[in-house]
Amino acid sequence: MATVNVVNVVKRHQFKWYEKFYFYSIGVGMWITLKHFFRVAFMGKAVTIDFPDKKREYSSRFRGMHSLKRDEQGRERCTSCFCCMWICPADAIHIEAASVTPEDQHLHPEDKYAKVFEIDLLRCIFCGLCEEACPKGAIYLDGNGEMATDNREDLILTKERMTEKFGGPILGRRN
Ligand code: SF4
Ligand code: SF4
Repeated sequence: MATVNVVNVVKRHQFKWYEKFYFYSIGVGMWITLKHFFRVAFMGKAVTIDFPDKKREYSSRFRGMHSLKRDEQGRERCTSCFCCMWICPADAIHIEAASVTPEDQHLHPEDKYAKVFEIDLLRCIFCGLCEEACPKGAIYLDGNGEMATDNREDLILTKERMTEKFGGPILGRRN
């Protein structure tokens, strides 16, 4: 069967004589800037907000800092299965497992729990794969999205920082 090659010819924009002067484009840019200035100064139609005094609502699909969830009885959901750690493409998750003992009332009744659970936000690309891979619904990227800081330690999320406090407010927006 014969194949037909279709070639898209892109027609170049033909500049008018006045468009060839830089002043024309500068004038257009200045006009746009002035238009916005008058809208904001005299009509109060600002498109920006006074952050951080005012904040926009996050979309329900927004991926922020991670949180570790508890179940209905207040027990940690994570069973230290390592699924999130293995799937993480940025190698940002570090987990150390330990055995659950009968005295550990704050834990689930399974074999293991995460003694150490750290996420390096300097490596994390917020892909959400850890959330998708978790079989226990233990980890969500539903936390705060404001991470600006002046030291690297703040960007290492520890288990203590991520885990919902027992009997305290539920972290993040999804459960
Ligand atoms: S969001 Fe992606 S990159 Fe970040 S810790 Fe989870 S799996 Fe790793
Ligand atoms: S957060 Fe979920 S996927 Fe990660 S170790 Fe815990 S149970 Fe497994």
